Amino acid sequence: MTRHVDLRSDTVTQPTPEMREAMSQAIVGDDGFGDDPTVKALEERFAEIVGKDAALFVPSGVMANQIAVRILTRPGDVIVAGKGQHVVSFEMGASARNASVQFALVDDSSGELRLDDVMDVVEAEKDHQVAVSMVEIENTHMTSGGTPWDLAHLSALARALGDKPIHMDGARLFNASVATGASPRDIAASATTVMACLSKGLCAPVGSLLAGPAELMRAARVERKRLGGAMRQVGILAAAGLVALDTMVERLADDHARARHLAGLFAAAFPESHYDPSSCRTNIVAFDHPQARQIVHELVQRGVWGDTIAPRRVRFVTHAGVSDEDLDFVADVLAHFTPAP
Ligand SMILES: *Cc1c(COP(=O)(O)O)cnc(C)c1O
Repeated sequence: MTRHVDLRSDTVTQPTPEMREAMSQAIVGDDGFGDDPTVKALEERFAEIVGKDAALFVPSGVMANQIAVRILTRPGDVIVAGKGQHVVSFEMGASARNASVQFALVDDSSGELRLDDVMDVVEAEKDHQVAVSMVEIENTHMTSGGTPWDLAHLSALARALGDKPIHMDGARLFNASVATGASPRDIAASATTVMACLSKGLCAPVGSLLAGPAELMRAARVERKRLGGAMRQVGILAAAGLVALDTMVERLADDHARARHLAGLFAAAFPESHYDPSSCRTNIVAFDHPQARQIVHELVQRGVWGDTIAPRRVRFVTHAGVSDEDLDFVADVLAHFTPAP
């Protein structure tokens, strides 16, 4: 096969040798009976890291978001969220199907939701409009290019919302932490519930975690079962997750530095996109291009694998499988690249 660099997603990462070792040694039990000590250790560890009472290990980030929606809403409720968020655009309409809720969408092209936009929806309750039961935010925010939230903005939003809960889709919570220097606990402080993926930049093969107040997490356990996400000797997977939390967080800084470098290369190669490489603050390069599908197709043929996330938006993601030599290869491809007219 010709050389290629896989920048489609940080989900393509492979488990590390230490993870495979930990998986082979893991002490396991039937987690349906609460008998798996490795799962318990992982859940306690994550709850501690994000400063919540309890946590739940789930098969995927989508399931973590879906459980959050089910425990924080009732059928017919409204969730305020950004148009580009995963829960809105990349979960196959799951929230409507699983929880019978609807979204009130606000602009999130900057990566954040503006306080006024959110509060306009919330306050419309006084104008005979439907009550909002929760707000969901994404940190880092994928479609804007992996943007971390400003914590002052987030806590101002939480204050304005009073007792309306925020669910934080922190699929890349640890990227946000490494990029901003804020602890996961501080980042999650304004959120009632928070989820994070172990299977992206942290390289675990499977799994995400949802954390929040004890009572809600008891309800979350029921919803996990209802959605078919309760597993048995799943300490095999949790063991890899513990290694991910222990060994793979700090190295995300390397992914961020490489993404920033790539951002400069793409900005130079596609000036017509007006992409500002300084907007790349974590591990995602994303920009608009009128021929997005075509350039992705042609770059794939030249060994630079990326993807489109909207008809005119391309995305390239760095991760543990991307080296400095890979960036040299990308630089070389881009230096000689002009899309066919
Ligand atoms: C990947 C992702 C998810 C879902 O995670 P899966 O494990 O793929 O189900 C949710 N939210 C965001 C922002 C993501 O990037």
